[in-house]
Amino acid sequence: MTHPFRADGSLRHLITLEGLPRPIIERLLDQAQSLVRPLGERPPVSDLLAGCTVANLFTEPSTRTRVSFELAAKRLGADVVNLEVQLSSRVKGESMLDTVYTLESLHVDALVIRDAETGVPGTVAAHVAPHVSILSAGESHVAHPTQGLLDALTVRQHKPRFEALSIAIVGDIRHSRVARSAFHVFRTLGVPDLRIVAPPALMPEPTEFSGCARHTTLEAGVRDADVVMMLRIQKERMAEVELPDADRYYASYGLTPERLALARPDAIVMHPQPMNRGIEIASEVADGPRSVIRDQVRNGVAVRMAVLREVLAWRGAP
Ligand code: ASP
Repeated sequence: MTHPFRADGSLRHLITLEGLPRPIIERLLDQAQSLVRPLGERPPVSDLLAGCTVANLFTEPSTRTRVSFELAAKRLGADVVNLEVQLSSRVKGESMLDTVYTLESLHVDALVIRDAETGVPGTVAAHVAPHVSILSAGESHVAHPTQGLLDALTVRQHKPRFEALSIAIVGDIRHSRVARSAFHVFRTLGVPDLRIVAPPALMPEPTEFSGCARHTTLEAGVRDADVVMMLRIQKERMAEVELPDADRYYASYGLTPERLALARPDAIVMHPQPMNRGIEIASEVADGPRSVIRDQVRNGVAVRMAVLREVLAWRGAP
């Protein structure tokens, strides 16, 4: 996909990380890093986006992503409106595009969209007025670009040399937008050893994740890895019959302290959340010293601030 840029070189929409040039990714990560503060310190605030309005249009549930987009926009001085499917007129049969045009008439400058259907953020981006930006907050199983950026930022804080890393992405790869965005960002950043680890039924099509080593046992997949990224089973994207049995899944694919011991001694453990403790990850690991799962959440706000600045700062002072 080609990414649209404005005349000043800034990115207009963020719908996927696939094909996003490395300098843009690095610019966003640098910007986000400058906005990260230790817990307990007051986060940076500014009025850079005063007078801009950001709408969160979520038709799939979300906790961290929606809240962090909202905090990110507010910390930059923007106004925020949140539309959830129960409250929006989509349940009354209004089409997504009509909702979008309404928001456009209300002077919304950026629309943050999460939807279970493939293609929605791209379709909306193709129809909105030229001053409006579209940010994907999760598109079906296809893309979750701000998650990919926050994952890259979290890795970089612990392991700055991407070109020396072994990263294992483990779990329901087939249905995971997190895995796809991680794949694109780590590929672009030059990670040489990118592995996907899943039971055969949860492996993606052979045409996807090109160049990644594929492992069907966790033991082989995490051996000597620097980063172990665990994923949730995407029950909502599977038929009842496809669902793996939770106990059997944990027995083979759960990240326990014993299995983590096969990775490098300084390996970090990630998870995008929500976590199913005792299904994909043991609590001792999720809460243990190698876990950076809470850093991922904190970094999510900084990344979303960086992305909002990137797409809206061209508007200048109100
Ligand atoms: N929160 C992430 C997502 O929206 C991961 C997950 O739901 O498993 O994709």
